[in-house]
Amino acid sequence: MSDATEEGGLYPPERVARAQEAARDAGLDALLVTPGADLRYLTGYQALPLERLTCLVVPAEADPFLVVPALEKAAAEASPAGRLGIEITGFAETDDAYELVARRLPPGTTRFAVDNHMWAEKLLAFQDALPRARAGLAGDVLAGLRMRKSAAEVEALRRAGAAIDRVHRRMGEWLRPGRTEREIARDVADAILAAGHATVDFVIVGSGPNGASPHHEVSDRVVRAGDPVVVDIGGTTPDGYCSDSTRTYAVGEPPAEFRELYEVLQGAQAAQTGAVRPGITAQELDAVGRDRIAAAGYGEHFIHRTGHGIGLETHEEPYIVAGSARPLEPGMAFSVEPGIYLPGRFGARIEDIAVCTEAGGERLNLTGRDLVVLPA
Ligand code: ZN
Ligand code: ZN
Repeated sequence: MSDATEEGGLYPPERVARAQEAARDAGLDALLVTPGADLRYLTGYQALPLERLTCLVVPAEADPFLVVPALEKAAAEASPAGRLGIEITGFAETDDAYELVARRLPPGTTRFAVDNHMWAEKLLAFQDALPRARAGLAGDVLAGLRMRKSAAEVEALRRAGAAIDRVHRRMGEWLRPGRTEREIARDVADAILAAGHATVDFVIVGSGPNGASPHHEVSDRVVRAGDPVVVDIGGTTPDGYCSDSTRTYAVGEPPAEFRELYEVLQGAQAAQTGAVRPGITAQELDAVGRDRIAAAGYGEHFIHRTGHGIGLETHEEPYIVAGSARPLEPGMAFSVEPGIYLPGRFGARIEDIAVCTEAGGERLNLTGRDLVVLPA
């Protein structure tokens, strides 16, 4: 994290209180949040998940507190969590941290919720310490907060989008015939860091038939002249927000049938990004692209949902998927990434991150969406 003003904007101090309110509304007695995206969202504290317990405890009707191993207390106090005015309690190596939390919860605690990624061993230890209480998932209450992004969060996603766009713009430096997907991916990963990310989260280089497998990562296949190549890349910026963008390239002139398929896909993806607005439901937005792809005869080859929310995690709510009647709201950020995959031959996907705004939608990835034909 860079400067304090920016940090305050991205991780404002009132979130713990809002989570407490949401927990109360959901009839929960307490939220228990261990290191991960939820903890960072609520406190700005980027703690590592380790075997010792670090846990933000948010009782519905009492003051929240943060439990940390004694040896982590100084680090926790120095983190943004230290400026929230909540108590930070250290425990010694010989203390039972779970008992310590249980003793401090109100005696009548019957329902608590844990962050969705809490380690099973920690959840089981909490269940042992609170034998009369039932455990649920905090994601149900926290997703409602996290998926409605603040202006500062949208700005952070915009910066992440610009960073990954810089990598796509350089693809011709690395994507050439005679090189393996793995060699290309190594260069792309270096460029993801050089573009301003703190970590590389994934690099998919799917050349020729490998492009027909949406989550193919890399292999030792050598890229050949005429190959279409799906490149799906993303990372996390130092302030915690993720990027994710796919472009499909051709190395030299691709088969004519690939061009036809790409044109259908491009039309569908553009229609979908153009349809983003408050009130449209996730399933309606999915259908905008799926119907066009099906009408062109490729329906059975669009084998995944349209997209996923993005923020402190690459995949989070809201999911843009058939069956979700969730209406989009200003501040929601998600991918729009239809794809068409012909097994054994080739595939194509175009992915932009979009944000729902008051007026409609904004794309955060701005590289061209026409097929980029690189020199063979
Ligand atoms: Zn992606
Ligand atoms: Zn994605």
